[in-house]
Amino acid sequence: MKVAVLAGGVGGAKFLLGLRHLLESASPGAEIAAVVNVGDDAWMHGLKICPDLDSCMYTLGDGVDGERGWGQKDETYSAWDELKAYGVEPTWFTLGDRDIGTHLVRSQMLAAGYSLTDVTEALCARWRPRARLLPVTDDRSETHVVVADPVSGERTAIHFQEWWVKHRAKLQTFGFAFVGAEKAKPSAQALAAIREADAVLIAPSNPVVSIGAILAVPGVRGALREAKAPVVGLSPIIGDKPLRGMADICLAAIGVASSAEAVGSYYGARLDTGLLDGWLVHETDQALIPGVRSLAVPLLMTDLDATAAMARRALELAGVAL
Ligand code: GDP
Ligand code: CA
Repeated sequence: MKVAVLAGGVGGAKFLLGLRHLLESASPGAEIAAVVNVGDDAWMHGLKICPDLDSCMYTLGDGVDGERGWGQKDETYSAWDELKAYGVEPTWFTLGDRDIGTHLVRSQMLAAGYSLTDVTEALCARWRPRARLLPVTDDRSETHVVVADPVSGERTAIHFQEWWVKHRAKLQTFGFAFVGAEKAKPSAQALAAIREADAVLIAPSNPVVSIGAILAVPGVRGALREAKAPVVGLSPIIGDKPLRGMADICLAAIGVASSAEAVGSYYGARLDTGLLDGWLVHETDQALIPGVRSLAVPLLMTDLDATAAMARRALELAGVAL
């Protein structure tokens, strides 16, 4: 059995961990392919940083800092302290010493001409995530945010990381632009994963800057619409709030309400040229979306078993018997 999952960083990684836990006991031999967001990626200090791929890789490779949910455990920050001592920007972006090892390997391999897909596979040879981690594209498709400049008030676009990490999404925000997306192509591996899957799941990841950025790559929506497997999503919004992060601010910026029903409607029914056949919302929520089978179940990823149970409900809704 093959399951494809569209995933962002921390939320996506946590969900993948629960899905893997479920499948390793209930369906040995099942394969997981995660199609991962690259919109957050950036070059900093000459290094290629891929936050969402790394969150998935460290989490599934048992190397993640459990408190933060991202970065490596037992990190130290000597290199970052040196960079700050030199006053080299961006000083607001934390880089751990161990993490820098990953970025150095990645940057060297990219400079030698390998694709991001190949580089990720090489990094995963060490981390052994027991799931394939596939960047949605090997091309540049970078999330930028249209904001009011804090000094001049004029509209300007800044990289997603600057908006998210430096400004904590507190600037007046008008929308998102996926720079390079129009010329980007999904990777052959990501397309094949969607095409060959027995179920396609959309992780409870940020609908705008994680899932939305994946969907911004031309050809991904079409692949989902044409997939032979049902597509089932899990809501990252419970009540009117995201569980963590600032998905509500991202949704407000694109004029979508912060509710499970609004996010499901934003993804849309596959019948209606949207994406979804099924939509899981938290037990205290409901979603009435014409053409989408919606079910209310516990959606809190409090521990591995709770997350595995969510994955089971998602696969059931996709018609997969375990
Ligand atoms: P990021 O790239 O690191 O921001 O991570 P993602 O985009 O993959 O995931 C962030 C989203 O995960 C946020 O919108 C959260 O609301 C959602 N999330 C985090 N924990 C949970 C949880 O326990 N349950 C659900 N349903 N969503 C969650
Ligand atoms: Ca992210």
